[in-house]
Parts: sequence; C-alpha cells; structure tokens
Amino acid sequence: MTAVVQEGFEQRYTLPPIESVADTAEQIRRKQERVRELCTERRAILLAHHYQRPEVQDVADSVADSLKLSQIAAKTNADVIVFCGVHFMAETAAILCPDKAVLLPDLRAGCSLAAAVTPEELQKWKAKIPDAVVVCYINTSAAVKAESDYCCTSANAMKVVSAIPADKPILFLPDKFLASVVAQQTRRSNIFAYPGYCHVHKTIRPEQVVQIMDDHPDIDLLLHPECGCVSSCMAKAVDGSLPAERTFFLSTEGMLRHIAASSAAEFAVGTEIGIMHQLSKKFPDKMLYPVNANAVCAFMKTITLDKVIQSLETMSPQVRVPEEIARKAKRAIDRMLELA
Ligand code: SF4
Repeated sequence: MTAVVQEGFEQRYTLPPIESVADTAEQIRRKQERVRELCTERRAILLAHHYQRPEVQDVADSVADSLKLSQIAAKTNADVIVFCGVHFMAETAAILCPDKAVLLPDLRAGCSLAAAVTPEELQKWKAKIPDAVVVCYINTSAAVKAESDYCCTSANAMKVVSAIPADKPILFLPDKFLASVVAQQTRRSNIFAYPGYCHVHKTIRPEQVVQIMDDHPDIDLLLHPECGCVSSCMAKAVDGSLPAERTFFLSTEGMLRHIAASSAAEFAVGTEIGIMHQLSKKFPDKMLYPVNANAVCAFMKTITLDKVIQSLETMSPQVRVPEEIARKAKRAIDRMLELA
C-alpha cells in the first residue's frame, strides 16, 4: 500500500546553520547561573532533549526523550515550560499544559521527520482505508496528531500498536524505519507505513554498523529505530551475521536503561550524537562509540544558552496550539500516556 505523499518533502524544511559557540568554561558557568536565576524568577521548568548541546543539557531540570519530557510537562506545577528541543515537542507541552507559557528559544527548531506529513496528506490516506487505526509518531505537528487515533514515541510504539485489535489495519506515520521495527516486533502484517524519515538518522548506515562490529566484536549494538540501517540490521540479526542477542532497537531513554543494566563493557550507539554527553556522564567506566559521529541535528542545535536567557527575559517566542486542534490532538496523546 502506497501512502499519499507529495514528492520531495525534503523541500519543506530549511536546515538552519549550526552556530559555533566559543564560550570559555567560566562564561558557560555564568550563563548557566543566569538561566537558573531566570527560571526561579519566572517559576519556570527547563526541559532538554538528549540531542541538545551539552551546556544546555547541563543547566536543565530534566534531560530525557520525548516521552519522558511530555510526562514531566504534563505533571509540572511550574508556570512556564522552557522547551529545549524542537517545535513538535513544545507543541505537545502546550497541548498538555494549556494554562502554562511554553517557550521554544529558537523557532527555527523544526524537524525533518515532522515535516514529512501534512494533515491534508493524512486525510487523503485515511480516506483510502477508512477502517484503519491511525498511529502517529510524536514527531508530527499538532494538526497531524489531531487527525490521529493514537500517538506514540520510539519508547512505546510497540506497546501502543499491540493495544490495537490484531484484525485492524494500522496507518503508521511518518517514519518508515520505525514502522518496520514495530511491524517486525509485533509480527503484524497489516501495518501500512508512511514513507517519511529523519534526515539525520537516515545517515546511520549498515556499512557503519558492520565496521564498528568488526572493530569491536564483543560490543552491544544500540540502534534508534529511526536509523536508516534498521531493516538491514534486523535481517542480519535473523541470518546470524549480526549477534541477535547483542542487537537492540531502543529509544534514547531505552539506551540509558540498557547500559545501566548491562554487564557489557562496550556499546555502539546509533542515534543523534547529542546523546553521547549524557551517556558519558552517566557511564564514565563504559566504552561508548557513536555508529556515525556525524549524525548531528541542526534543528536541535539552534538552541544555545544565550537564546535560553533571551527567551526567559522576553518570555518569547511562545508556542501555542489553536484550541480545536489541541483538543483533538490531546486525545491521541492521552491514549499514549495512559498506555505508557
Ligand atoms: S534528529 Fe531527526 S527526528 Fe530528531 S528532531 Fe532532528 S530531524 Fe527531527
């Protein structure tokens, strides 16, 4: 089944340049102090995704993946949420916390995966299979979530899909690589995948995996399910050319949990490079190798300490979601959070 997608969705987004920040350690410390002062003044909580710059992660109240950050946002008593992540994450926080100000310090923080599908394309796809259940990845706009039955993240996609009756066809969007992992793990043949992808994770390739496994024969292989190599790696784990018992498809939180629980000494990490900061801090005694050291998300790196300070000082830019879209999108998010 082919999804209804306009050709060339790569043209829908512009990658921002990655600003190089040359602050000294002392300057970083002072800026972080200023961020914390402003958070206290504004009664703000600062949430940072694992792909953020290290100095932004280090000043955050919580550093986590999309699922955990939305759970924290849903429960916070703060008046203001500073979202150091990308636009769809700030939208999710705004949907869950309509009475709070949600700041996104740089509005250029978009997402190539979220740009892959529009609500109009989803409506056309739904019209083709009207009895299907729509499961959208959290990396979608609020307007796409509003057209969906369930939301999911890479941490809970399998749980969400498993909760849907086996005879129901599922339209899974927008990530085709995550869809293939979920289809294999749930053994469902009625999952129809939208052909979107993340331009960063797509660059994590099978040949890089082969190289790292050759160089480190005893390593645990941790791959984010958005990676371009997942189909090849699943097939190799079945035919024995990759060690099935040491090949794992995990969200970033799942990677942290896996390393904490594992007795292995070495780990190959296939995801955006920002995760290496938390992993190195939390596991200084483990050997950690990125599968692709050039997997950098320019959208995530738009957010700097200077922009966080400016955002808290000016209380802008704020992300808001129109009420009707928020109400519909919240159904899909709430269903996910109940299952999670
Ligand atoms: S790494 Fe990919 S999926 Fe994640 S925010 Fe960047 S573009 Fe989107």
